[in-house]
Amino acid sequence: MNLREIALVRTNFRSVTETPNGRDRLSNSFYGLLFGENPMFRQLFPATMEHQRDRLVDAIQIVLDHLEQPDIARGFLEQLGRDHRKYGVDGSHYAAAARALHGALRAYTGPAFWTDSIDQAWWHVATLISDSMASGADTDDMPSHWDGTVVDHRRVLDDLAIVRLRTDTPIPYEAGQYLSVRTPQRPRMWRYLSPAIPSNPHGEIEFHIRRISGGWVSPSMVNETRVGDRWSLSSPLGGLKVDLDSGDDVLMIGSGTGIAPLRAQIMEMSSRGINPRVHLFVGGRHPCDLYDLYTMWELAMVNPWLTVVPVSEEENDPWWHVEPPREHPIGMHQRLVGPIGKVVASFGAWTDRQIQIAGSPRMVAETTQELLAAGTPWERIQHDPV
Ligand SMILES: Cc1cc2nc3c(=O)[nH]c(=O)nc-3n(C[C@H](O)[C@H](O)[C@H](O)COP(=O)(O)OP(=O)(O)OC[C@H]3O[C@@H](n4cnc5c(N)ncnc54)[C@H](O)[C@@H]3O)c2cc1C
Repeated sequence: MNLREIALVRTNFRSVTETPNGRDRLSNSFYGLLFGENPMFRQLFPATMEHQRDRLVDAIQIVLDHLEQPDIARGFLEQLGRDHRKYGVDGSHYAAAARALHGALRAYTGPAFWTDSIDQAWWHVATLISDSMASGADTDDMPSHWDGTVVDHRRVLDDLAIVRLRTDTPIPYEAGQYLSVRTPQRPRMWRYLSPAIPSNPHGEIEFHIRRISGGWVSPSMVNETRVGDRWSLSSPLGGLKVDLDSGDDVLMIGSGTGIAPLRAQIMEMSSRGINPRVHLFVGGRHPCDLYDLYTMWELAMVNPWLTVVPVSEEENDPWWHVEPPREHPIGMHQRLVGPIGKVVASFGAWTDRQIQIAGSPRMVAETTQELLAAGTPWERIQHDPV
C-alpha cells in the first residue's frame, strides 16, 4: 500500500474508534453482514460476542499501526488465523470475512464520504487481513488445540490462583508468548493466559490467574478449578522476546499476573550461560500482592545478571490482610512505593534498554505514558496487545 492509502484508512478508522459507540456499531455491522451471508458461521462463535467485538476492532488497529512494516502485520495475522482454528474456522472462511469487513466500513462511513480511493485502500487492508489469516490457518502443521489436565490449583491470594497443568503432548510455545485457554466450567469461552514457565518436554505448564470481579471466566478459573479438570489450550500467540543478538540490556516491568510472561523468559534465560543484564520491576497494589517476589528473588540469587526491584502502589497492606508481612530478604532491593510506571521512569529514560511491560491494560498504558514522557523512544517498548 502507498502512503496515501495508509493515511486514508487510518483517518477513516479514527472516525470509528473516536466516535462514541463507533467500535460497537462497526463490529455489529461486520458480524451482521458475515452471519447474514453465511448463517452457519454463527455456531462457530461463542454465545456471547462481547469479546469478539472488542478483539475485531483491536486487531484492525494493530494491522493499521503496522502497515509500513507489512511483515509484522502479516506475522500477527497468521498467528491469529492459527488461533481461530479453535473455533473450527479454516482458510476457506476468510474471503467472506474480507467482504463483511469492507461492507461494514462502507456502511459505517456512509456514501457521502466513501470515495473510490477509500474503497480501494480498505479493500487492500481487508485482503491483507483475510489472506494472511487464511495462510496462518491452512499452512500450519500444529493441532488446532491441545488438551491438558489440571494437576495443581493453589490460591496464593484471595483473588489470585496458580494453576498447573500437564498437557497430553507438549505445546511448542516460546517463553513470553500467550495462549488461549478454555475450561470445563465455561466451555465456549476462550481467554488468553500467559504461561509462567517455559515450554518443556513433560508438557508442564503454569498459569497465574487473577479474578476480575464481574468477569465471565476468571472468577470460575480462580474459585472453581479442581485437580483433574481438563482444559483446552490453543496455538501460541504474541512475540514478547529478548533480542539476544542486539547486545542491549533489558528492562522488564511486570505488575500482578503480568509477571508471568517475564518470569517464563527469565527462567529460560537462566538455562543459558551468558545473558544481557536484566532489571525486573515487580509491582502490585499492596506489599502482600507481590505474591511471586520470592521466586524472582531466588532466581536473582543464582543469576548475577538479574536485578529484582519490588514496587507497591500502597505503603502498607490493607487492614483485612491478616498474615504478617514476610521478612525482606537481606540483599534484595528495598521496596519502592508508588505507581510502577512513575517509579521506573524516576530512574531515567532507560534509552539503552530493550523494554517489556506486562500487566493490566491500565498499567500498560500508564507505564508506557510515563516512560515516553521521560524520553524513552517508543520503538524500544514492547507489550502484548491489551
Ligand atoms: C495477551 C494477554 C495475556 C493475558 N494473560 C493473563 C494471565 O496470564 N493471567 C490472567 O489472569 N489474565 C490474563 N489476561 C487477561 C485474561 O485474558 C482475561 O481478560 C481476564 O481473565 C478477564 O476475563 P473474564 O472473562 O473474567 O472477564 P470478562 O468477562 O472478559 O470482562 C469483564 C470486565 O472486566 C474487564 N477486564 C478484563 N480484563 C481485565 C483486567 N486485566 N483488568 C481490569 N479489567 C479487566 C473487561 O474490560 C470487562 O469490562 C491476559 C490478556 C491478554 C490480552
